[in-house]
Amino acid sequence: MTNTEILKGLRHHYPKPYTDLDYTNNFELLIAIILSAQTTDKKVNEITKTLFKNYPAPLDLMGADLEEVEKILQPLGMQKQKSKSITNCAKTLVEQFDSKIPDTLEDLTKLAGVGRKTASAVLVKGFNKPAIVVDTHAKRVSQRLDITKQETPEKVEIDLKKFFHEEDWCYISQVIVLFGRYICMAKKPNCQECFFIQSCKSAII
Ligand code: SF4
Repeated sequence: MTNTEILKGLRHHYPKPYTDLDYTNNFELLIAIILSAQTTDKKVNEITKTLFKNYPAPLDLMGADLEEVEKILQPLGMQKQKSKSITNCAKTLVEQFDSKIPDTLEDLTKLAGVGRKTASAVLVKGFNKPAIVVDTHAKRVSQRLDITKQETPEKVEIDLKKFFHEEDWCYISQVIVLFGRYICMAKKPNCQECFFIQSCKSAII
């Protein structure tokens, strides 16, 4: 399939991209994305109401009592590691970025707990800047749709960037995750409901 055919199918199904994470500003977005590692967005949403009420800004979170933060994060698992990540991230935001969320990949990846995937997701969702987010869903869907044969996120990202035009990166980054999460699932892809079933070589018919 060409990039135009894939975009057409996705745009028909997802005219407007959305995210499952709840947030009201880029600080909350960044923290929610860090917390979403190894858990579901639904679980993150269940605890961020309390977290953001108690620590609404980087300065509040930076000075938080780690045990108090761990208690809030406990339902997510890995609460010790995640508490350290988000409080250290807040500290760097205050000390190096005047409490503002940076808008470049280079600066975002200087923050604790922020790798290339998280930084790219913040650029896309928070700043509408062109970036490609490669998570487990994006990688699987890209392989099944024959966009890439690569295994590492960095190489999959390169192939996705070559395949789609830069003006479509933001859109693709958001919907490919939704498509992988709800239609082209890892174990039992819902091929019968999929708009690519006629052309997808990985379709299970
Ligand atoms: S046809 Fe099946 S395997 Fe192919 S993209 Fe659709 S859900 Fe995924």
